[in-house]
Amino acid sequence: MTLPFDNPRVSGAPLIIGGGMAGALLALLLRHHGAPAVTLVESHALGGGEAPDTPSFDARSTALSAGSLAVLAELGLLDTLLERAAAIGTVHVSRQQRLGLTRIRAAEQGVARLGAVVENRWFGHVLLSALGRDPAIRVRAPARLSGITRTVDGYTATLESDAGASETLHTPLLIAADGAHSQTREWLGIGARHRDLGHDAVIANLALATPHQGIAYERFLDDGPLALLPLPDQRFALVWTGPREQADAWMAMDEGAFLAALRQRVGAGVPALTRVGERQRYPLVLTEACAQAVPFAAVVGNAAHTLHPVAGQGFNLTVRDLALLAERVGGQPDPGRLSRLQHWTAERQRDQALIHRASHWLPEWFRVRQPLFAHSRQLGLLALDLAPSLRKGFARRAMGL
Ligand SMILES: Cc1cc2nc3c(=O)[nH]c(=O)nc-3n(C[C@H](O)[C@H](O)[C@H](O)COP(=O)(O)OP(=O)(O)OC[C@H]3O[C@@H](n4cnc5c(N)ncnc54)[C@H](O)[C@@H]3O)c2cc1C
Repeated sequence: MTLPFDNPRVSGAPLIIGGGMAGALLALLLRHHGAPAVTLVESHALGGGEAPDTPSFDARSTALSAGSLAVLAELGLLDTLLERAAAIGTVHVSRQQRLGLTRIRAAEQGVARLGAVVENRWFGHVLLSALGRDPAIRVRAPARLSGITRTVDGYTATLESDAGASETLHTPLLIAADGAHSQTREWLGIGARHRDLGHDAVIANLALATPHQGIAYERFLDDGPLALLPLPDQRFALVWTGPREQADAWMAMDEGAFLAALRQRVGAGVPALTRVGERQRYPLVLTEACAQAVPFAAVVGNAAHTLHPVAGQGFNLTVRDLALLAERVGGQPDPGRLSRLQHWTAERQRDQALIHRASHWLPEWFRVRQPLFAHSRQLGLLALDLAPSLRKGFARRAMGL
């Protein structure tokens, strides 16, 4: 979606910098909760066709939890999204070549599905099409923020289009949704902690010999966790994490060697893998903003927190942040009031801390090799499999409910 710069001096609407998954969803949620207008700025062209290609809407797939699907249903987007998504009926968690194993099943949890897996490009198409249908959402793309000045009641922001046009507008609420290296966050004077894990995630789509039956596999290997997520058309989305030099080797292998290495790691009980599509890699760097709310501004999505992709929780956590933010500020005449924003961060703190701790400790927990520890870990997985109440608590958290 490349819109011309018509240079209106627009006042009073929340201004979102970054039109990735977080920024695009927030624009829709703010409107849904009563914001009269929203402006969204994205540095890449948004296409408008079926397949946007931006850092957010790229070759990856996203496992959306049942909670995230409920938010998309509220926006009226679920049916279109599910046209090209695979439902997750069962999650199968195990440790490489060990006894411990647990299965979480939708039927046992009393839900139609635990979640669904969607290719990011299709997800982008669904979100960006919805933005395009709402005339009160002004999209500026490709464009970027070139400066901000604090005023008594918000921020004055200058935008520059790639074509050289410039626009100045006033906003009562500036939102940094421009990713882990957010320039907006920096200009707001908010620091961030970054921790490079020295690991990469290698992703690719895999073709299967037989149907996956809606089963997602999470394998904890010595190198790092590996996920196989069901996709439409008898495919899996692979997320394979490991030390950077190991990822170099995975990227360099030809298709046959890659599939052989993968089959060996995945083990028995998984549909046979027949083909692998293009591989991409992502460095795993955890980011945490030092604040998510300051007067007249909020930080969301990857700009606020990036997590290990181990359990597919990063965006699902963001959806819960955004749904509450939109509810708290959407219809308010003073959406950037600090007390309002601080109330939002306080309400989100417990969930964020829990997911941060889990996504940090889970891979560590499964990596430790001491026999006693390995034994208790297997018992932990077995206990989870044997005790429905334990499993229910774990599943409800993973589903974002
Ligand atoms: C391998 C991998 C697999 C994952 N799988 C899952 C999963 O299954 N489930 C899940 O919940 N999460 C998953 N995640 C996490 C998920 O991808 C992130 O939560 C999500 O990308 C956050 O989106 P975002 O919009 O905040 O940031 P980004 O995706 O980084 O988007 C930021 C946007 O801002 C734009 N931008 C940057 N700078 C500027 C600027 N100056 N001006 C204007 N625009 C700008 C960028 O072009 C981009 O469009 C995964 C992550 C990885 C790495």
